[in-house]
Amino acid sequence: MIKLNRRDAISTLVLGIASAAFGGKLMSNSNDSNVKMPALFLGHGSPMNAIETNNFTQTLTNLGASLPRPKAILMISAHWETNGTWVTGMERPKTIHDFYGFPKALFDVQYPAPGSPEFAKKVSSTILSPKIEIDENHWGLDHGTWSVLKHMFPEADIPVFQMSIDKTKPIEFHLELGQKLNFLREQGVMIIGSGNIVHNLRQVRWEQEAKPFDWAIEFDEWIKQKLIERDFNSLAKDALSTTAGKFSIPTLEHYLPLLYIAGASENKDLLKFEYEGIQMGSMSMRCLRFF
Ligand code: ZN
Repeated sequence: MIKLNRRDAISTLVLGIASAAFGGKLMSNSNDSNVKMPALFLGHGSPMNAIETNNFTQTLTNLGASLPRPKAILMISAHWETNGTWVTGMERPKTIHDFYGFPKALFDVQYPAPGSPEFAKKVSSTILSPKIEIDENHWGLDHGTWSVLKHMFPEADIPVFQMSIDKTKPIEFHLELGQKLNFLREQGVMIIGSGNIVHNLRQVRWEQEAKPFDWAIEFDEWIKQKLIERDFNSLAKDALSTTAGKFSIPTLEHYLPLLYIAGASENKDLLKFEYEGIQMGSMSMRCLRFF
């Protein structure tokens, strides 16, 4: 009887310590930049989403509030296409208004987040192939970046740096480079691809709630299934093999950020679709998170 009681007492004590430690760890994780960061793909659609409030922007706001706080954010935006792969390495990246024909209120938006020269250097020194060049003064934060971060992290107090899309490379290249970025997640860097899974400006219907085209729904659903199956090779090899694919991504720049995020994910990750919906008939606003 005495032995049993002692054992009970000890196991109760051990359990108590373990739960206190676990509870403490959980509490510190909610704001701990050492926790492994998620990788996200976000649709961004029209730049007007930056200054509007709708179901999509509300989702971004709620998402930003619920995510762990990263040490830095690496953005792969559809709107920075280059020869070679570059990362922004400046201390104070400027807000770039890379569009025209929109209201002044959109040109007035500033997103004064600091840059992250340290992580830019780390990316460049860790990934040797392809060579990652550091851009000290040319680019900054384009609207693919700030139109979504403005809703997620309105304080603009988390360092942000961008990686460009090498437009000379085949689709597979972007999936492989995404895999090489995975190490950043362990180091407190959130990786976000910003584009659109379906993006056909020629077919745009100029009302946000316009009826989606059938081919847009078909391609968006096909991508969703491939992501669930983790069949990323199909994302690279078969995206343009159907009529729906050809209509959905007549150019690749809005699609490729998804390949980086698929690449940066891991087998053990969970996948959550944060938002689904097609704006203006031909723009999928699907947002997803690997975590
Ligand atoms: Zn865009």
